[in-house]
Amino acid sequence: MDFVHKEIKITGYSVGGIETSFILPHFKMAFDFGRGSEELIDIPRVFLSHGHLDHSSGIAYYFSQRALKNLPPGEAYVPAKIAKPLKKINDLWKKIEGFSGAGSIIPLSPNEIVPIQENYFLRAVESYHRIPSLGYIIYKKSQKLKEQYQNLAGHQIKKLKEKNEPIFTIVDIPILAFSGDTSIEFLDKNPDVARAKVLIFEATYIDEKRTVERARQWGHTHLEEILERLPAMENEKIILTHLSKRYQEKYFVKVLQHRIPPAEQSRFVIWNKDRPYFL
Ligand SMILES: [Zn+2]
Ligand SMILES: [Zn+2]
Repeated sequence: MDFVHKEIKITGYSVGGIETSFILPHFKMAFDFGRGSEELIDIPRVFLSHGHLDHSSGIAYYFSQRALKNLPPGEAYVPAKIAKPLKKINDLWKKIEGFSGAGSIIPLSPNEIVPIQENYFLRAVESYHRIPSLGYIIYKKSQKLKEQYQNLAGHQIKKLKEKNEPIFTIVDIPILAFSGDTSIEFLDKNPDVARAKVLIFEATYIDEKRTVERARQWGHTHLEEILERLPAMENEKIILTHLSKRYQEKYFVKVLQHRIPPAEQSRFVIWNKDRPYFL
């Protein structure tokens, strides 16, 4: 099942420690490889958050399957610090499999920008895990009336347009943020994360049995930390992902309905295995 909000469509799979991979079919891109799904093979570029195997192990399968299907070589954008070892592993797999299929591993550092399609681009963003990691924000380039024209009536704007007055300015609107695995600093230190229309954020732990302290120890986020910041978060939709595998659906629904303020519940979506769950 898909999640759709405005121009954003998402499919994917996520369970903490097992597998995480999200596909954005409209943008022909994905976040994380998970263990390598069939749907992922047709996606020409994948942005990897970090090297833990629940996010990265599908990379060799991805390259190999694209070669088998005679698809153009895939592009894997990865945190710069793990680009070399990933290339090494990939070369070894090629030897083992006896195929020469190409595929590029492209290192990315925080704040680097990758054009996605006309009027959309992606920015790599620093995230905070136990190993080198990145989050990502997709922006839309949008026309906005310059401040001095904002109070004009429609017919006045039309007149200025006819005169070819430069009344617009271009603004970058964050439409989607993806946290990967990270502690809450990803939200605190990158203001655009809380402004993104859709936010995909990890919430590995959600109850008192696993504390905030423990989440932080492991470079993860606890639901409580997100809820504390909720009043300042402008996100239209917040998709909680990477929930610990210990939580069964019945249980997490009960906990989330209890903990998330009723007026805020419609903003939340829980990604449970291969589908979004709406509270
Ligand atoms: Zn993980
Ligand atoms: Zn991880």
